[in-house]
Amino acid sequence: MATDLQIAARKIKIASVNPATGEVLGEFECADERQVEAAVGRAHVAQVAWNELGIRRRIAVLRDFQRKLHESKSELAEAITREAGKPLTEALVTEVLVVLDAARFLVDSSWRLLRDEPVPHGNLATKLKSGWLVREPYGVIGIISPWNYPFSIPATETLAALVAGNSVVLKPSELTPLVALELAKLLQAAGVPEDVFQVVIGDGPAGVALVHSPIDKLIFTGSVATGKRIAAAAAERLLPVVLELGGKDPMLVLDDADVDVASSAAVWGAFVNAGQACLSVEHHCYVHRSLYESFVNACGEKTKQLRVGDGMDAQTDVGPMIHERQVRIVESHVEDAKARGARVLAGGARLPELGVNFYAPTVLADVTHDMRIMREETFGPVLPVMAFDSDDEAVRLANDSEYGLAASVWTRDSARGERLARRIRAGTVMVNDVISCFGISEAPHGGVKASGVGRTHGRFGLEEMVRVKYLDIDRMPGMKKVWWYGYGESFRQQMEGFLDMQFARSLGIRLLGALRAAGALKRKRL
Ligand code: NAD
Repeated sequence: MATDLQIAARKIKIASVNPATGEVLGEFECADERQVEAAVGRAHVAQVAWNELGIRRRIAVLRDFQRKLHESKSELAEAITREAGKPLTEALVTEVLVVLDAARFLVDSSWRLLRDEPVPHGNLATKLKSGWLVREPYGVIGIISPWNYPFSIPATETLAALVAGNSVVLKPSELTPLVALELAKLLQAAGVPEDVFQVVIGDGPAGVALVHSPIDKLIFTGSVATGKRIAAAAAERLLPVVLELGGKDPMLVLDDADVDVASSAAVWGAFVNAGQACLSVEHHCYVHRSLYESFVNACGEKTKQLRVGDGMDAQTDVGPMIHERQVRIVESHVEDAKARGARVLAGGARLPELGVNFYAPTVLADVTHDMRIMREETFGPVLPVMAFDSDDEAVRLANDSEYGLAASVWTRDSARGERLARRIRAGTVMVNDVISCFGISEAPHGGVKASGVGRTHGRFGLEEMVRVKYLDIDRMPGMKKVWWYGYGESFRQQMEGFLDMQFARSLGIRLLGALRAAGALKRKRL
């Protein structure tokens, strides 16, 4: 059987295809293992000067990138829509805006978050030293990204890696290489040297080659299945990784929720990006039984009004799915749910008249946890809704999942929402909103359980891009340390006194300890 690396050595071609029309947008030869290694080698060399440039100058490059991105926002949104299918407005808001704002956050905060930080010492024995946290770049960061947010995911990760002084080798999804090349163009135009940000194009084996190459850290975003393979390969060589994996993000609609608002949120949250969002509410919408019928009917009515079509048409609400393979998964989950008694309130079938990748936005009522749609990641335009009877049951249902990326709670009572949010095991829980957490540049993004490890975005995402070095500087270079050799009974007693002086409960024993400890300073040391 061929190993992963042998597979990476074969030469194959991939095509970038417009999912709405089937038009081939470009063809590429996949990078092989040797080419990936060479890119990482060049990135190592280039990183040295990039790091020496200093953080202020790198922030200036980011500012320039942000300006150039803003100037080309419309053309970039079109490129994203052409290759990934999402409506133009979504390309602008969920991709371009997210990256513009991530750049804003990094321009404003990187200096403060990455500069050396003093560490005051509490232990009296170490008071004569000054301690510093020094944040150093890893070196070369490998990024492997998916197709569903082909710009905002790799770009937000890349900007954080670059500002911290790393170079980056990006392996974008084989379905969306052109958007990654647009990112490279913008970065280079802003002054990022060619070898400091490189794109290696290819499918899974090119990703395997990157994982095995001498990168210093990997940021992977993709499915749980691929994430697990990568985690195993990375563990073998102790490669630090951040894994941003799939989710099945529950939405809990409590008995005091506003049905109109919550149903609009469910519909948008389920069908944005044709349901192909790791944060989408496609999977678990749990509604209190008292609101259930009115909620599912409102969702059904609103869903029927959505306009499905080519994302390039400004009127389109829901575009195509990325690939027919993805449509088949949705189809099989919906068929399974129907066979087990789910009610279809909208959609429920492909839309062949629009093209092979179109599936009608679908609302399913009366779903149960033994249906595939409630257990596996569907990653498509389906909104399954289920009833619950109490807050405790809602929390139990929400936590009954191998995933833990995000969740939302809907209620008119924010305090009650907050109480429930704290009980849900997920990386992010929103009260009265869905998905927008990905656009909050200050907020960390990432999951628990099978949804991954580590964080991207915000302060914690920036911290993932640096190694923390502890720098200790002794302020009395000519003084032998009290604890060095020259032990003996009297030194033992002095040290007992020293411990009493710092930690005894009674003031008297502390004072006595101080008197006993004082002799240690005059002790003869080796
Ligand atoms: P995927 O796991 O199939 O592929 C992701 C990337 O990994 C692609 O670039 C692919 O070429 C590469 N790859 C595939 N096999 C590999 C291997 N063995 N070694 C190294 N790289 C390999 O995922 P996808 O279909 O592109 O994306 C959809 C998935 O991503 C969904 O599960 C979704 O939930 C998840 N996702 C998660 C987040 C998040 O932030 N948590 C965001 C977006 C998407």
